Amino acid sequence: MKKNIIKFWGVRGSYSITDSDKLEVGGDTPCVEIRTKDNDLIILDMGTGLNNLSSALLKEKNPPSNIDIFLSHYHLDHILGFLSFAPLFMDKFKINIYGKKDASGGVEKALNDILDERYWPVTFDMFNADLTFIDIKPGRIHLKNGISIESNLHPHPNGALGFRVELKDNVITYITDVEHPIGKTLRKVNHLARESDVLIHEAHFTPSDLPNYKGWGHCSWEEAVSVAKISKSKQLVLFHHSPTYSDDVINEFGEDAKEHFGNCMLAKQNLEIIL
Ligand SMILES: [Zn+2]
Ligand SMILES: [Zn+2]
Repeated sequence: MKKNIIKFWGVRGSYSITDSDKLEVGGDTPCVEIRTKDNDLIILDMGTGLNNLSSALLKEKNPPSNIDIFLSHYHLDHILGFLSFAPLFMDKFKINIYGKKDASGGVEKALNDILDERYWPVTFDMFNADLTFIDIKPGRIHLKNGISIESNLHPHPNGALGFRVELKDNVITYITDVEHPIGKTLRKVNHLARESDVLIHEAHFTPSDLPNYKGWGHCSWEEAVSVAKISKSKQLVLFHHSPTYSDDVINEFGEDAKEHFGNCMLAKQNLEIIL
């Protein structure tokens, strides 16, 4: 029987890296694929990991022609993969990109801005895919095959959206680039994650480093574990690892986190979770 699958194509926060002591965890920036048992394709963020997804997609015999992409926010580590996403140039794909609208504009403006000829030689009119941009407000939207996505805005420089992806038979919540208040976790984040089968939550800094980075918009595994417990999520995946940390550092705090929440694992590049 077919299953819903989550695949991590990029798990590193802030910027991509290739240092040899960091490659077990992986060097590409955030991109997570959800592939449903009906072959629906949902992508969470377009970091540099999107290029890995793209290569795999184009090798498939029957890739889904419809792609729904949800962007947490427009910091470069979450959108750089857009620049070279091959399906954009192919007319067999319908690509819907969802993102927040803020004071600087919506999702189309954000992506158009990085296609300025000073930064990149590609322009929108070179794309052959059927491309749609959808500005979303916190709330719920419905996709086909009974899929719905609830989103909520959380604190991060210029704000970021968390996504609760409800499939027919599984709930996957994706919360990244979030700064919780000291000593507690945000109620709306706990609520968004309620009873998730899989909670993907950032753990950018170690608990000992976190106090030095107040206002940077991130947290540690301690807050992620707290959200997992309060929300009664079944499984926790720690994500968006600092590019300054080696595999050893990340593996060590992964073990610490596991002591506090048994069903906890580290997001590593190419990790696949079959639900
Ligand atoms: Zn980020
Ligand atoms: Zn960010």
